[in-house]
Amino acid sequence: MKKTIQLKVFPSKVNNLEFIKSLACKQEGINKHELTDIVIVKRSLDARSSRPFFLLRIDLYIDQNIPEQKEITSQFSDVSDAAEVLVIGAGPAGYFAAIELIELGLRPIIIDRGKDVRERRRDLKAIQQEGVVNGDSNYCFGEGGAGTYSDGKLYTRSHKRGKIEKVLRLLVEHGAISDIMIDAHPHIGSNKLPKIISAIRETIESHGGVVRFNSKVVDFILKDNHLNGVKLEGGETIKGSAVILATGHSARDIYKLLHGLDITIEAKPFALGLRIEHPQSIIDKIQYNQTERSPYLPAASYSMACQVERKGVFSFCMCPGGLVVPAATSPGEIVVNGMSLSRRDSAFANSGIVTAIELDELENMGYAGVFASLDFQKDVETKMFNAGDGSQKAPAQRMIDFTEAKLSDTLNSTSYIPGLYSAPLHDLLPSSIYYRLSEGLKQFGKKNTSYFTNDANVIGVESRTSAPVKIPRDKETFMHIGTPALFPCGEGAGYAGGILSAAMDGQNVAKAVRKFINS
Ligand SMILES: Cc1cc2nc3c(=O)[nH]c(=O)nc-3n(C[C@H](O)[C@H](O)[C@H](O)COP(=O)(O)OP(=O)(O)OC[C@H]3O[C@@H](n4cnc5c(N)ncnc54)[C@H](O)[C@@H]3O)c2cc1C
Repeated sequence: MKKTIQLKVFPSKVNNLEFIKSLACKQEGINKHELTDIVIVKRSLDARSSRPFFLLRIDLYIDQNIPEQKEITSQFSDVSDAAEVLVIGAGPAGYFAAIELIELGLRPIIIDRGKDVRERRRDLKAIQQEGVVNGDSNYCFGEGGAGTYSDGKLYTRSHKRGKIEKVLRLLVEHGAISDIMIDAHPHIGSNKLPKIISAIRETIESHGGVVRFNSKVVDFILKDNHLNGVKLEGGETIKGSAVILATGHSARDIYKLLHGLDITIEAKPFALGLRIEHPQSIIDKIQYNQTERSPYLPAASYSMACQVERKGVFSFCMCPGGLVVPAATSPGEIVVNGMSLSRRDSAFANSGIVTAIELDELENMGYAGVFASLDFQKDVETKMFNAGDGSQKAPAQRMIDFTEAKLSDTLNSTSYIPGLYSAPLHDLLPSSIYYRLSEGLKQFGKKNTSYFTNDANVIGVESRTSAPVKIPRDKETFMHIGTPALFPCGEGAGYAGGILSAAMDGQNVAKAVRKFINS
């Protein structure tokens, strides 16, 4: 007999299978020798009570062996001679589209402006240590896209469980720990992601797909509005039966190119704010109610949201035990983001604290038209850069000083390697944005007094939260409205907001391309 149960287990015992079996028997009144085996199906941490516990969903097998399961491993055939589909962008959307294309018998030709994961590391070092930003190879551009040196949290608001499982399974098949299949908040970590990404590339290449780095798309080849291929910097043209455009939210040149070619794009609201960095111990104390975190508990995270003047202020991409990183994609900008290693063991907790910015608000600030959000985003990033010394040092303030519009005499220590400098963020941000962020932080402080502290820094500017432009596509065919054979995909087109959703969008678009080619 199989029985599914819920079990509360304290953190010190969550990895002790024998203990869990005994506890399950006790709870269910089962004799220990009757229990053949157990399978943990879901694991989530509940830290709401004074003594945090893990809630496990477990399948118990009583007087019955676990039915032999056919190992579901992905099967790919060789597509070297199949119809070629261009995939622009080697981020999660592009790579998962490519894998799906291979499954569907099509040959992906992936083109990325950046370098492979290994080469890319040098450019990240140059940003971190010398403040030099390479416009084609940085935290957003290069193999694996913004996903490679990201935090690797694998959450999505999508509830299409089957599809989520397929992405997670592919990640596990390429080297991710299998815990991601059961954890309620799966996390990989930026030290583990590069190996997984290059293993995905090996799968693509070994089945006849092509991956080209250092290949920047600078033009599209159109015939009677039909997209036939792309032109690379340097002049080479590449043709394909269809083009999946998965260039991410930071490819401003691609948006400009589309607009210049009269390919419809739309302005899109987005969110902008700051990254806040607390000592991890403060967040642990708030969440776990323990002066010192038990060694069995992970670095604590949080999620906050409130309304100020009927607009949302919310935490975004929280990275417990993480690092704040410089995520600019061009020289002359300051952009910050967050990531963490798999162990999440840094002394800091960082999170974006951002506010929603609608198009009418931008219009009031003098930004109109299809590039309203993009121009605004760029102006704020440039202003943050110009306030500094020309390096990637980021402007910062202590949290309460920020809410009191007071320049900080000194700053707290930080994980941000390029370093921080004290700056009047209250002046550098547009006044309405400053007001909402500041009031939002005060509201968060009312919910949790320890959160609202001058021991935290706020750092400018968290501006790459989502795409500032949408590339419209048909709901059924996933094809661009007005440009046959162009398939906008992933976060840059406005159809995803993270690694998992970008990967799932890639898979959906690949299926749509298969239908298009068959038709
Ligand atoms: C520091 C950081 C931390 C993050 N942490 C998380 C997290 O924990 N969890 C999560 O879900 N999400 C996280 N994200 C967001 C996540 O990485 C993105 O949502 C996701 O990568 C979007 O996937 P994508 O494939 O649509 O685009 P991208 O990943 O942005 O990939 C786009 C690709 O297109 C290429 N490209 C751009 N222009 C051109 C051109 N002209 N020619 C050729 N190639 C081009 C780029 O080089 C890039 O490789 C993080 C992002 C950053 C920067």
